[in-house]
Amino acid sequence: MNDLRELYQEVIFDHYRKPRNCHVLDCANHQADGYNPLCGDQVTVYLKVENGVIEDLSFKGTGCAISTASASLMTEALKGKKIAEVEHLFNDFHQMVTASESVPRPDLGKLEALAGVHEFPARVKCATLAWHTLQAALKNQAIPAKTE
Ligand code: ZN
Repeated sequence: MNDLRELYQEVIFDHYRKPRNCHVLDCANHQADGYNPLCGDQVTVYLKVENGVIEDLSFKGTGCAISTASASLMTEALKGKKIAEVEHLFNDFHQMVTASESVPRPDLGKLEALAGVHEFPARVKCATLAWHTLQAALKNQAIPAKTE
């Protein structure tokens, strides 16, 4: 168990030092800004959605290791996913980081690296900031708005 925990911390640290998909997405047709005042984390999430599928996504932001790693892991996990699957994944992810005890979530893949957050309730908002921002971005009208 301790080994597993170390591995997870390594994944988080790796994604913090070398965030994946951390850039402005020029072809984005959805985007939103998110802010977590509890910690000072800021993130902008960019999405390119076509026919209900996330063809590409990225983020830019400044924040703590948890918020940065979570955003990085989220962009890796969601590329190519259907919008319908995103809701399901976020529900599972949210349950994992707010659970009162550790529940294995192999269905979450690498996102499981953030399971340890459930022991630190004050950090839950760091871990979910990118996801809430993603949902806000998905609710935005596509840019430019489609008229047909
Ligand atoms: Zn934070």
